[in-house]
Amino acid sequence: MKNNSVSLMLISVVTAGAVCLGVLTETVLGASSAEPAEEPEPQAVQRERGSIYDRRGVLLAGSSEGERYYPEALCPNILGTLSSDGSAQSGIELALDSELRRGDVYLSIDSRLQRTAEDILRTAAAQYEKGVSYDTAAPYCGSAGAVVILSCRSGEVLACASYPDYRLDSFPQDFASLSADESSPLLDRALQGLYRPGSTFKAVTAAAALCEGVISPETSFYCGARLRLGGTDFSCVRSHGYTNVSRALELSCNIFFYRTALLLGIERLDRYARLFGYGQAPLCELPTLGGQLASPDSSEYWGDGQLIQAAIGQSSMLCTPMQMALEALTVADRGRQLSPTFIRYGGIHEPVSVLRADRVFELITKAMTASSAYTYGDYALSQLEHPCAVKTGTPQSPRGYDSAVIGFYPADRPEIAFAVMLEGGANAKHAVYELCKAFEDNKE
Ligand SMILES: [Zn+2]
Repeated sequence: MKNNSVSLMLISVVTAGAVCLGVLTETVLGASSAEPAEEPEPQAVQRERGSIYDRRGVLLAGSSEGERYYPEALCPNILGTLSSDGSAQSGIELALDSELRRGDVYLSIDSRLQRTAEDILRTAAAQYEKGVSYDTAAPYCGSAGAVVILSCRSGEVLACASYPDYRLDSFPQDFASLSADESSPLLDRALQGLYRPGSTFKAVTAAAALCEGVISPETSFYCGARLRLGGTDFSCVRSHGYTNVSRALELSCNIFFYRTALLLGIERLDRYARLFGYGQAPLCELPTLGGQLASPDSSEYWGDGQLIQAAIGQSSMLCTPMQMALEALTVADRGRQLSPTFIRYGGIHEPVSVLRADRVFELITKAMTASSAYTYGDYALSQLEHPCAVKTGTPQSPRGYDSAVIGFYPADRPEIAFAVMLEGGANAKHAVYELCKAFEDNKE
């Protein structure tokens, strides 16, 4: 058994619609005069609120006679809500309220990829209802989750889906039952759901250890499926024998990364984790959480056991699916970390941080590309036009295990970076084929 001494509240419940952050401060009509008006001014015609479009000009939220309508019924978590008096409550409605009162807004979202991301999560939930299968060739499943797809060129958010979700056109009527729903449909899991990244984090540990020189590409450690440390057994999925870092990433060997962590230490590991986007909320238009890094400060019982678990994205580490997508983006971009943005052409193209280590990222990319071979049947990534790079994870959670995958496509000249998190599920890696195929089919 793996060490499971840390119990964590992994989901912070944020009821987006319940928090009214917006206060209208602008005066709609002109200043009133103290003198009695001789004749009442004709009523000023209220301008219709601006529309929200996707990056291709597909209408996501329009206005008619003061009422919002949603032709595509997509991304409620991104678009956000208006109160009954028309004031902005959450999401883009709130973040871009002044722009929307002046005119239309174009988001970075690609409605076709967004629909694929939402369909993947719905399919995962339907598969979950049939029962979770950990068979390596089984379909992906999960009771809830999130999908984030970023553009590698600009950091633009092409899709950002959270499940379970809700309909905006009946939001006011549904609000009471949505708030009471134990599955937390109002929580935007992509931006505010907190999860352990699990083995998807191993790319960070590999980069840190290689950049700091505590291991070389040739260093190998023996995995006999078990490592005894301080009286506790820490396990691997099976005995991998001697592995170097490339093979350990490809096969997701825990023991290799446990041994690496003991050489690296938590300070250096955390420093690199930040360079990949962990431990701080990314700068973007919508409220996001930053989670936390595993550190002696965040854990009551810190020791080598916690350190080695941190190296495989466990221990007290917490992050959002958006941050996991940023890790993938940083690997895809060879150490450049861009800020995500929800606005078309809104990317801050200056990187937030830069880690110059081309050969290290080349090695990690190769290992992640080799890892894509472990996908099967209808989900086999070998069916795609180009090689794909992936790293899977099966983090422990209050639900037992979650299933996660991060990656980028095409592996050799990346255009999209992504993260899929499925709660209590399995085989998130098998959602990647549909996601990349949708990108291929809808390329701009
Ligand atoms: Zn192993």
